[in-house]
Amino acid sequence: MAHIVTKCDFCDDPAIYDAKTILGPWAFVCNKHYNMYCSHMPGLSKRLEPVMPTEAASKVCRICGKKKPINEFYKFTDRHGQERYRTECIECNLKRKADKRRVNNGG
Ligand SMILES: [Zn+2]
Ligand SMILES: [Zn+2]
Repeated sequence: MAHIVTKCDFCDDPAIYDAKTILGPWAFVCNKHYNMYCSHMPGLSKRLEPVMPTEAASKVCRICGKKKPINEFYKFTDRHGQERYRTECIECNLKRKADKRRVNNGG
C-alpha cells in the first residue's frame, strides 16, 4: 500500500503547503521553503491534507462496544481488493470462535 506523499518542489522533503511563491508560480513547499518563498503572502497558500499514520486510527467494536486501536481488529481484503477491518475486535472474534467450537462439540 503506497501513500502518495507530495514532495516539495525545491527539495526532497514532503510538502506541507501548496502556495504561491515569490518566484511567481504556485508550488508545493515544505515548511522550510514555505518560510523562505511563501510566508510573505499567507493568504495565497493552501495547507495540504496531513497523512494520518495508521496507528492513530481506532474503531468501535460491534460486539463489546469498546473503542480500540485499529491494530486490535483483523484486517481483510474485500472482493474489490480494498483493505478493510472486521467489525468485531480480535478479542471478540476469538471468543466467538471458542463459543462456536463448544456448540459444535455437542456441549
Ligand atoms: Zn523544501
Ligand atoms: Zn470487542
